[in-house]
Amino acid sequence: MGQKEAKILDGKALAQKIQERLKKTTATLTPKVGRPPGLAVLMVGDNPASAVYVRNKERACSQVGIASFGKHFPADITQKELEEAIALLNQDERVDGILIQLPLPEHLDSVALLNSINPDKDVDGLHPLNLGRLVRGEPGLRSCTPAGVMALLAEYQVNLAGKQAIVIGRSILVGKPLALMLIAENATVVLAHSRTLDLPSLTRQADIVVAAVGKPGLIQPEMVKEGAIVIDVGINRVSTPEGKFRLVGDVEFTSVAKVAQAITPVPGGIGPMTVAILLENTIKSYTNSGK
Ligand code: NAD
Repeated sequence: MGQKEAKILDGKALAQKIQERLKKTTATLTPKVGRPPGLAVLMVGDNPASAVYVRNKERACSQVGIASFGKHFPADITQKELEEAIALLNQDERVDGILIQLPLPEHLDSVALLNSINPDKDVDGLHPLNLGRLVRGEPGLRSCTPAGVMALLAEYQVNLAGKQAIVIGRSILVGKPLALMLIAENATVVLAHSRTLDLPSLTRQADIVVAAVGKPGLIQPEMVKEGAIVIDVGINRVSTPEGKFRLVGDVEFTSVAKVAQAITPVPGGIGPMTVAILLENTIKSYTNSGK
């Protein structure tokens, strides 16, 4: 077992650095373009976790000079009404980015709604056109959370070429796009999921372990190779003995930090990076709109 504590990969600090840079960009471009960049975050219903994420995103927008066109719809809104709202935002020239806060209530078809967003305004990178561009290795808007993981690895100059990486979780939001992004950086990637057999034997071979599952304590120290880099995407609310809640990831942080070379904390790791990349994507589509 390693004697040294792992280095903390500080997503909060990098997110702040990115937001400082974006703030300067918007300050320079807003007078030239004649309007600030605009982002519309759409929320349906009253999921408390979603409400926190939406508030964080809108607060971050105002800090860097992005105008918010967010809308909060009642839980019983119809598919048609939401599609009409998205169609209006697609045409609205003040809006560069549209994001649907997931998950949506059961009666709504989220795939159809995501597909109705103008791909040029798809700042969450979930439209088939943008996912297709990712598969092909072409430029395009990339999903915020996996792009945030990649930006954090780049900041700490983690060399991925030829390395063994394992991504645990195969969602379209995180695991699948992240596996493709790691491949694009020449890592050799294993994509594990709920039906994977003998996960520990796979994680133990990996130089880079990414957990994106949503299960506290999934990654234990004996599953991690000494000197590996561990990225914890999971966000789980667990209750404390005092009857409160705290946020933890999928990695048993304290014990894994004794084995790993570097590790992301939760909170303060990939969460803030996701927001920073969302803002970056919004400004990317603002500058690409050629106005
Ligand atoms: P999801 O529920 O869509 O997918 C979970 C994945 O985990 C599935 O692919 C499933 O096959 C896999 N899985 C389930 N049990 C497993 C097991 N025992 N072993 C291996 N794999 C298993 O979730 P998601 O949307 O991809 O999110 C994953 C986690 O990341 C959640 O905790 C979520 O809150 C968090 N998240 C964080 C951010 C962020 O900004 N940090 C953003 C998105 C999601």
